[in-house]
Amino acid sequence: MRFNVFEDFLTLIFPETCVVCRRSLFAFEDHLCRVCQANLPVASYHLFPESNDLKTKIMGLAHVEWVMSYLKYSKKGLSQQILHQLKYKNKPGLGRVLGRLYGQLLIEQGYQTRWHSIIPVPLHTTKLRRRGYNQSQCFAEGLAETLAITVVSGLKRTANTDTQTRKSRIQRWENVSEVFELTPQTSIYGKRILLVDDVMTTGATLAACACVLRAANPEILDLAVIAAGKG
Ligand SMILES: [Zn+2]
Repeated sequence: MRFNVFEDFLTLIFPETCVVCRRSLFAFEDHLCRVCQANLPVASYHLFPESNDLKTKIMGLAHVEWVMSYLKYSKKGLSQQILHQLKYKNKPGLGRVLGRLYGQLLIEQGYQTRWHSIIPVPLHTTKLRRRGYNQSQCFAEGLAETLAITVVSGLKRTANTDTQTRKSRIQRWENVSEVFELTPQTSIYGKRILLVDDVMTTGATLAACACVLRAANPEILDLAVIAAGKG
């Protein structure tokens, strides 16, 4: 966890505030106020998980069953603001809140017993050290808590990737395709697995992870992210 004396000092004086609108939170609110929570741009991918534009994007790259995103991503929108807080403002708890909210939605849809385990896309260790937490792992923990299943750290990165900006889809794919592997003692043979990440843009990272997992013969391999869609 990053240690920031000034921020710690501020939270002593000022109560917790909503990560979006900055209003002081009530004791029953967690990272998001009720108004901002109600205004989240919830996507409908979970209603059509087998056939949607995210699935189409992944299909040529990896074999997966369902592809879903909790939120619709839009530049300068609420989802971008939330992802920024989650990734750069030392808010691991926000990931767990989003995971719990999405888990509730998936249960309402009747998916409670679909998965055995959730596997988050790993961060490279240098990034993990700098940030102090893996935001995808936090999202996975919130989801797992609500769905009453386990989070398995089944993947690891073996090399850092170069910056992905200004690269074509194919270049990006080649850039990440080598760097994931199954962690020792991870067995997902015959298991129903949900692979999760924070955001899906080209889908290359998720597809690279999905290929590694698929090679270990799970019964089902689904993908879920916090936000995706046209930026
Ligand atoms: Zn708010």
